Amino acid sequence: MGNDKCLFCRIVNGEIPAKKVYEDGDVVAFNDINPQAPTHVLIIPRRHIPSLDDVTDAEATLIGTVLARAATIARDLHLTSDGYRVVVNTGEAAGQTVFHIHFHILGGRNFGWPPG
Ligand code: 5GP
Ligand code: ZN
Repeated sequence: MGNDKCLFCRIVNGEIPAKKVYEDGDVVAFNDINPQAPTHVLIIPRRHIPSLDDVTDAEATLIGTVLARAATIARDLHLTSDGYRVVVNTGEAAGQTVFHIHFHILGGRNFGWPPG
């Protein structure tokens, strides 16, 4: 059923509103509340997995689905021709603040490398 203390589980459950751009039986995607680019979508599995560090072969198919859906969403949002960035902050030092695994889909501007 997920984790009732987890912000993103609460978005999955509809307890907290979010501007959803896509959902199906496996994933939910919604606009980031503090966008860092003209398009900034978060895509998450419905299932509570705290971070990439918790992903094992048992979750590999689900995580593959999340990534495939991210690519579809990027196409649907017309990000593909100019390019876009997918980011998975993992752990506090890397900037992870919500411990329900999420993939940032960022587009609509140029991105520097290396990231900050
Ligand atoms: P992280 O820093 O863990 O990689 O990313 C968490 C993201 O969740 C941040 O970009 C932050 O703006 C976003 N966020 C935090 N709280 C909410 C919320 O209540 N709703 C939405 N839509 N995004 C949120
Ligand atoms: Zn969760």
